Amino acid sequence: MRLTVLLTLVLTSSLFAHGPGKENDFAGRRVLFIGIDGCRADALVAAMERGLAPQLKTLSESERGLLTRQFYAGGEKDTPTHQPTISGPGWSSLLTGVWMDKHGVRDNRFIGGRFQSHAHFMRHIKEAKPTAFCASFADWPPIHDFIADGSRVNSQEFLDVKFTCAPDAARHFVDNPEKDIEIRDEALKTLHTQNPDSMFVYFGQVDEFGHGAIDSRASFSPDSTLYLNAISHVDSHVGELLRAMRARPKFAEEDWLVLITTDHGGKGNGHGGDSDNERNIWLIAHGQKLPKDKLMKEPTPQTALVPMIYEHLGIP
Ligand SMILES: [Zn+2]
Repeated sequence: MRLTVLLTLVLTSSLFAHGPGKENDFAGRRVLFIGIDGCRADALVAAMERGLAPQLKTLSESERGLLTRQFYAGGEKDTPTHQPTISGPGWSSLLTGVWMDKHGVRDNRFIGGRFQSHAHFMRHIKEAKPTAFCASFADWPPIHDFIADGSRVNSQEFLDVKFTCAPDAARHFVDNPEKDIEIRDEALKTLHTQNPDSMFVYFGQVDEFGHGAIDSRASFSPDSTLYLNAISHVDSHVGELLRAMRARPKFAEEDWLVLITTDHGGKGNGHGGDSDNERNIWLIAHGQKLPKDKLMKEPTPQTALVPMIYEHLGIP
């Protein structure tokens, strides 16, 4: 079965695309948000310690960078915000800044999603600055089909680039690593040829390895070499994206906030529950004005990521 590859380019705003450097709506401030599905925190750290994730390690240890393991998924236990540690609710929270009691997504079917009232953050960027350039790349189609498209008002597109490619479920997602390469390459193209203000880039293979979908010997564990190798592959993609970002003309004038995180951890070959290995996730951030002490010391919900983006761009 061949897969749908969909590239939507809405040219109206790109005709007015701003230039590099400070020639944008945000005085040079820009956001690169990278999502690595199902990347358990202790496995990420194990990969870093074994030299398998040099790009993420270097970024998090650089002067303006950080890695916190105080980040958490799953909402607040014993409250209406409590949500399963799975991708539907998790990415909904990461992309809208609210938990399930507001976004309404309980599982990966997205029934009851309320993205009209609790929209994808890029819709709000576009509402604040209609000429902003927003780009999203994902090889898990619901990111676009439900969260982004569900956030559109009267079908009006707010993404200037929306690149979707789906791994083949019938072949147990065995081609997910290849789809991640397609995602990387399209995102690189945008960093090279456009002047994005906000980018979201999603990689799916780490989760599929955790599930044992691609190779039945793998699991969500720091002891799974196959799982760590998947993290390593995505680490190299992250490195390419960072290299392209830094190679931009007038990069020195640009003020990029880089955020890298996951939607949930896992245990064995699954996730969805309330164990520490599923709920306790991580955030790597790099930027000029990060609240480093706070992020390192205080437990921070994954819903706090969108407000960080708005604050960086100066969006109320
Ligand atoms: Zn999963």
